[in-house]
Amino acid sequence: MRTQDEAYGPDAVDVVEIYINGSALTDLWSRASGEGGRWMRAADALWPGRRLWTTDPLPNGELGDGDRRTVLVCVDGLTSCGGATAKFRLDDHTAQWSDFSTVPEGKIVALGPFTFDRHLYDQAMGRVERGIP
Ligand SMILES: [Zn+2]
Repeated sequence: MRTQDEAYGPDAVDVVEIYINGSALTDLWSRASGEGGRWMRAADALWPGRRLWTTDPLPNGELGDGDRRTVLVCVDGLTSCGGATAKFRLDDHTAQWSDFSTVPEGKIVALGPFTFDRHLYDQAMGRVERGIP
């Protein structure tokens, strides 16, 4: 994971780019689903001081529901009309993202599941929170 400036409208904002085994999640998602997706704003996902992709309570209902969290937003930057969500399961040793699905249809896409080492997962989020590229 890393933050990157991206042009959202007239202003550049920090977004969180997610790489899984070296591949950008946006590419993996487009290949698997045939749909577009865009990186989430860092302020919505992980920064400052927020960890959407954990068991922390959701900051608002547009970013997920239960154990399902938004991982990519629509190509227009919104959360309700496109993008991707995934189910999150975390325990002491692993973090797993599975059951990727389309927004708003909720159609399950053949992508993943991805299982991460919990320590490395938390480290990646911590680096983004601290603004380390
Ligand atoms: Zn949209």
